[in-house]
Amino acid sequence: MASSSGGKRPAGTDKSRAWRDRTKLTHAGNSPFDNHGIVNPPVYHASTVLYRTVEELRFKEKAPFEHVTYGRTGTPTSWAFEEAVAALEEADRAIAMPSGLAAIAGALYAFLKSGDHVLMTDTAYFPTRKLCDNQLAKIGISTTYYDPMVTAEALEKLIRDNTRVIYLESPGSHTFEVQDVPAIAALARRRGIVTIIDNTWASPLYFKPLKHGVDISLHAATKYIVGHSDVMMGIIAMKDAHFMTVKNQVHGMGYSVGPDDVYLALRGLRTMSARLAQHQQTALRLADWLQKRPEVERVLHPALPGTPGHEFFKRDFTGSSGLFSVILKPCSDSQLTAMLDGMQLFGMGYSWGGYESLIIPSKVEQSRTAKPWKTDGPMLRLHAGLEDPDDLIADLEAGFQRLRSNLPGESAAE
Ligand SMILES: *Cc1c(COP(=O)(O)O)cnc(C)c1O
Repeated sequence: MASSSGGKRPAGTDKSRAWRDRTKLTHAGNSPFDNHGIVNPPVYHASTVLYRTVEELRFKEKAPFEHVTYGRTGTPTSWAFEEAVAALEEADRAIAMPSGLAAIAGALYAFLKSGDHVLMTDTAYFPTRKLCDNQLAKIGISTTYYDPMVTAEALEKLIRDNTRVIYLESPGSHTFEVQDVPAIAALARRRGIVTIIDNTWASPLYFKPLKHGVDISLHAATKYIVGHSDVMMGIIAMKDAHFMTVKNQVHGMGYSVGPDDVYLALRGLRTMSARLAQHQQTALRLADWLQKRPEVERVLHPALPGTPGHEFFKRDFTGSSGLFSVILKPCSDSQLTAMLDGMQLFGMGYSWGGYESLIIPSKVEQSRTAKPWKTDGPMLRLHAGLEDPDDLIADLEAGFQRLRSNLPGESAAE
């Protein structure tokens, strides 16, 4: 990186922009021969940055985000990560953030002010809703939730004079509806409204929002990019036209990323295509197996016909990841508890995108207002990890066995 080039952020190279995705994943952002030939960028621990002369100080302060000027504004370590994600997202720039939620908050604050209005997908990650209902409401920004499967025509009717942002998350949290992103982005462009999408599920590998007309694509890098359940990180990707708006906002709010964390995020990114291919394959195998189980009412996975927006998934995505949900047939709470408490490989916990499998009961009823959500049986969200799928199936099968044997006097919960 720029370690030996006067502390200037290297512009994304045309070369890396022309590479295919897996080549970008492997090389974008790295510059070994600026760093003694060492493959990975150095981890710069920095607060104070020294200037040799007043002239140098004045020069660099004119473009503080393009030079190493202070620890908080960015270092060659964060630049390397940002450059790699920007290349993958087919964006010009990306900004690393200390968590996925910080990326969401930073992007929203960048384009909103008191008195403005946001159109928010009803299936947004729950803390995104809380941000709208609490922090944004507190400063006079109002939110209308819309059905993720809305047509652009119907969505247009919800636009007000003060609507500044249309926010998407596709597929939706827990219920996995895939949105008609190009149609919504085209509507927003026509009406001069900024679009922001949470692209965490697909990762920058399987869906390219900017190619479909979206302005801002953000990720909880905590999930697949980091990939090892050990770092919180977010990233916001955009074209040059939006860079200063977002960077000034998040810099003004004091956001910056830790050097070791951003190094680990970049290290995770390097192997993401190999990991995602396996997450994808195992999730599809589990989804297929679950669909045939008598305990299961329905599997919600964008790659399965019948999941709302499946046609948009087939049209716009190049792959699917490891996270999906399953709705069980009605059973008692003690049956569900017996199943979940005894899992050997599926861990119960929040977050996802690491190498390990997870299972968690989801309650989405209270987080849907535009389009009420109700199921007769309980819903579970699964993350297919990198274990052998046969072992995962055996773990689920034993879980269903516990579920069935907890029903007094019956052999199957059909
Ligand atoms: C986890 C998650 C986030 C938040 O990321 P953190 O790094 O946990 O703050 C945002 N969006 C989606 C879709 C997520 O799954």
